[in-house]
Amino acid sequence: MNEGISTSPEEVNRLYEKLKREAESAGYHLNGDVGFAKSLIKGLLVNEQRYGYWSCPCRLASGDKEDDLDIICPCDYRDPDLNEHGACYCSLYVTRAVLNGERKVESIPERRLPPDERKKAKASKVADDVPSLSLPVWRCKVCGYLCAMNGPPEVCPICKAKKERFERFM
Ligand code: SF4
Repeated sequence: MNEGISTSPEEVNRLYEKLKREAESAGYHLNGDVGFAKSLIKGLLVNEQRYGYWSCPCRLASGDKEDDLDIICPCDYRDPDLNEHGACYCSLYVTRAVLNGERKVESIPERRLPPDERKKAKASKVADDVPSLSLPVWRCKVCGYLCAMNGPPEVCPICKAKKERFERFM
């Protein structure tokens, strides 16, 4: 049920063009089935209205942004899934081989841990134990980009993920 939520074809087209441009400029590719890609992008816009962020259109969000950070598109699992399966979990993003029809996308197993395991993994994440550096190093959880700055950049220059997707690496 889409309680008062609506998206126009123009909005979907605009976002499709934007994401396609950004993806290509960073070495990524949207699914070549434009209608399919746009249906997922519509899902992103619906989720933005529902939750306030681009929660993955193929996963159930909790509505708690902190808890859903890893599944805000592009999610933390996109790149490992592209490497291993040739596509992200939703197949919005695909590799060049898939785009060119040289590889088929099979079903992609869910890489995200169930909620209780995610909680445990977070809790057991050991505190950094590295020698002090003059500047902290920040890592983009989406694409792995690293930078040494006082704080994370507003937007990842590689994959365009927002600041909140960075973690302190050292
Ligand atoms: S990149 Fe991740 S969040 Fe975005 S559509 Fe693909 S699986 Fe969903």
